[in-house]
Amino acid sequence: RKLSSALARVEELAETDELTGLANRRRILDVLLKVHEQQGNLGQSYAVAMLDVDHFKRINDTFGHALGDEVLRTLGALLQGTKRVDDAAGRIGGEEFLLVLPGSTTAGEANAMAERLRLAVEGYDWSKLQPELHVTASIGLTVVEAGEDPENVLRRADEGLYEAKRSGRNRISL
Ligand code: GH3
Ligand code: MG
Ligand code: MG
Repeated sequence: RKLSSALARVEELAETDELTGLANRRRILDVLLKVHEQQGNLGQSYAVAMLDVDHFKRINDTFGHALGDEVLRTLGALLQGTKRVDDAAGRIGGEEFLLVLPGSTTAGEANAMAERLRLAVEGYDWSKLQPELHVTASIGLTVVEAGEDPENVLRRADEGLYEAKRSGRNRISL
């Protein structure tokens, strides 16, 4: 019994992002594939949001790497607290997060959810961490139709993110 609970603990650690406590890259990509298959079987669309902190390098450079880490930790908690129960959130890279939104089946629903996320970041009182600190994020959003090739999903979310950055940041691009 001890061994099996130790193994379960190891498995959990292997799937958890140390800094934020969210799903790590491996885990959230697993979840994405699972949701993709599930929604495909149901004949239902779903949405994926890729969120990247704006000018994060500047935050690190101005206030230090430890404060940057604190921002990422807080961001993880904000995403966790804003997403719905059936949504999944993970950290896929340095200052980049992925949200899988099985309950958002239309562009309108996906946009509303992404806007809640964007506002949660923009509206948080970041001065609690550091006076003069403001944090925003850009979001690439995509709606995935049942039967689509899963290969396209991340590429499209990433293209949306690129467009959100290019057109001024602190915004969503579908
Ligand atoms: P953009 O608005 O275009 O996204 O600009 P940016 O500065 O956010 O993007 P860029 O990719 O230039 O910089 C990301 C920075 O994130 C660089 C890297 O040092 C930092 N970073 C990556 N992982 C971590 C981390 O775990 N902790 C901290 N503090 N910084 C990190
Ligand atoms: Mg980035
Ligand atoms: Mg960034």
